[in-house]
Amino acid sequence: MPRGGTDFLLPDLALDTPAQYVKGIGPKRAQRLEAAGVRTVADLLEYPPFRYEDRSQYRPLAAIREGEWVLARGRIAHAGSFQTHRRKMSVFEMLVRDRTGAVVCKFFNQPYLRYVYREGLQIIVYGQVRRDPFARGSLSFMNPECEIEADEGEASSIHTGRIVPVYRKLADLRTRSLRQMMYRLIQGLPSELQDPLPSWLRARLRLPSRSRAIRGLHFPEPAASTPEGRAKEMETLNRGASAAHKRFIFEELFELQVALQMLRRKRLEQAKDRRIRITDNVRQAIKKILPFHPTSAQKRVLKEIADDMISHRPMNRLLQGDVGSGKTIVAAQAAIVAVENGYQVAIMAPTEILAEQHFLYFRRLLQPLGYGIDILRGGLTARQKRGAAGRIEQGDSRIVIGTHALIQDPVVFDRLALVVIDEQHRFGVAQRGTLREKGRLPDLLVMTATPIPRSLALTLYGDLDVSVIDELPPGRKPIETFWYREQDRGRAYDDIRKTVSAGRQAYVVCPLVEETEKSDLRAATEMAEHLGTAVFPELSVGLLHGRMRSEEKEKIMAAFAGGDTQVLVATTVIEVGVDVPNASLMVIEHAERFGLAQLHQLRGRVGRGSAQSSCILITRGEISPEAQRRIEIMCETNDGFRISEVDLALRGPGEIVGTRQSGVPAFKFANLVRDLKALELAREEARRFLDMVGDGADPECERYATYIDRRWRDRYGVALSG
Ligand code: ADP
Ligand code: MG
Repeated sequence: MPRGGTDFLLPDLALDTPAQYVKGIGPKRAQRLEAAGVRTVADLLEYPPFRYEDRSQYRPLAAIREGEWVLARGRIAHAGSFQTHRRKMSVFEMLVRDRTGAVVCKFFNQPYLRYVYREGLQIIVYGQVRRDPFARGSLSFMNPECEIEADEGEASSIHTGRIVPVYRKLADLRTRSLRQMMYRLIQGLPSELQDPLPSWLRARLRLPSRSRAIRGLHFPEPAASTPEGRAKEMETLNRGASAAHKRFIFEELFELQVALQMLRRKRLEQAKDRRIRITDNVRQAIKKILPFHPTSAQKRVLKEIADDMISHRPMNRLLQGDVGSGKTIVAAQAAIVAVENGYQVAIMAPTEILAEQHFLYFRRLLQPLGYGIDILRGGLTARQKRGAAGRIEQGDSRIVIGTHALIQDPVVFDRLALVVIDEQHRFGVAQRGTLREKGRLPDLLVMTATPIPRSLALTLYGDLDVSVIDELPPGRKPIETFWYREQDRGRAYDDIRKTVSAGRQAYVVCPLVEETEKSDLRAATEMAEHLGTAVFPELSVGLLHGRMRSEEKEKIMAAFAGGDTQVLVATTVIEVGVDVPNASLMVIEHAERFGLAQLHQLRGRVGRGSAQSSCILITRGEISPEAQRRIEIMCETNDGFRISEVDLALRGPGEIVGTRQSGVPAFKFANLVRDLKALELAREEARRFLDMVGDGADPECERYATYIDRRWRDRYGVALSG
């Protein structure tokens, strides 16, 4: 972007000046800022406040009421700290007084605060008014946000008497320093800045200019004269819905959509140098392994995939379908198409365990065809690894299964034609790019088992074509889900007995104790012992966990699949890929500790046959409101789309897609739950925009395209063109 030049703020600062040169930053702090994604003055100016306070109006302390969120201002009349007896917590307490009254503020386990908030200081307090049960129900603030008002002369007009921005800590910069810094930068901001967004686009969408948006973002000027009007403006600001916000949200989404569509167009211009045909051989091979008749949805998506494979353009396709909709077999058929044409296939799973399960499944399924199949995973000896690498390089290995390591591994493929990525939410644009370079433009099939909300699909997979399996295999009955508390455990055991005496089988998935395999393992082992000896001495209880050797796992799975084991106790290893249609009961221990996507996946292990299946979620003790919401939605619906939407709302998109790792930039302004409409608009505008690029008619268009191209190369290592 040809910035700089006219965009001087202060005599020696331009928008693209490294943040280091801003007064108060310096080289050390600049490093920490860079880690937080702030490199330039422009990045700093686009660091959004997370909240606004109307500091033209403080609430008199005499007028605060329980439950309200209140902004007040007063002097610290008294401060001190103590330890609670029972729970050994440190409490810092201060009494804040204004002319009308006083209030107690309490802070827990932050003993250092006594060095910060000293008696006599003037402060601004923001928090929710609570009744303090330990102080005879008097009104107080618990862990409020506070800001010390120093005697800064004219600077105090930055921090009070107006609507002020409140920032999250950035590197080690707190809200007051940030506010001061922004204020100073904005003072030097010219009224017109070069704007990456083409002016006609801005005009059509009525978006403020860059300069106005930056000002409005940090120091909004209220327009309303009445208190009600002012309150409404504050609400708009805090919802992120002011004109300034709208501009940044659009800009962010537009950039992403333009980038994704540029990628897509670039790929449409590429040509593969291989020939794939659907011959009789291919048809015969598929017929030979198909254990059932595909549903019409499966047939349709296979046709879409095969058409892509035959075409001279590389496939970039997302296969979406709920848990149990039968994606694996479609992937297997696509693999057969590639192998029968003399090519190799790579299949990637998100974890080692899942890779292993796929390995077992494909080996069993494709056995009649005699393909060489290899797995690449950690834990192989150097010799095993060399052996596999050799077979892959020679082309003897036709199907290679592995984890992410497959893209980092120096393994060279002989004739890689198809890459399947299963169960991947965290596999974004950048990673997909790397993978593609492994072969000569291999066809790419990304499968997601948990359907993702449309907004995420557009963001993460906006560069892909989409196929959907929207039909379950015949004879499936919806799984009934129940929530049991710990004290109902006996009932869960009765349900297991009933299931087994009806000739069916059950899973018990063990408490996710911590995020370590070891403790999961202990919990599962103990549970299996307990169930096998004390609870169901008359039944055969098996145990499956990730630490077992492959052969052992295979044996245990075979015993369960063959019906010799009636109850299988497992860790979350069975989350994906395990497939025993006779199992009709899933019991999940400590269900409150699992995320929604995982619960949905686990539940998807039952309901695979024609029997009525159920899922019992057992929780222990008090659970958080979010956990309760997760359990409730599980009991309410089997619809993966619905579940993923709730998941998105509960966790936020960052958590789900892991934007940093996924190669899609994290959003600073946009919120995928809130901004679906803006996203659709950005997508539409990006399409129109790209139709105008390239003919040179509009220099602003060309300039923006170049800007995005350079930015993505510099910041994300993704080449959008060329
Ligand atoms: P997912 O889409 O979750 O990966 P799977 O591929 O594991 O689902 O398939 C779920 C189950 O449905 C498996 O037992 C599979 O064998 C079975 N299945 C898939 N397609 C069909 C079909 N057309 N008819 C009958 N069973 C099927
Ligand atoms: Mg699957």
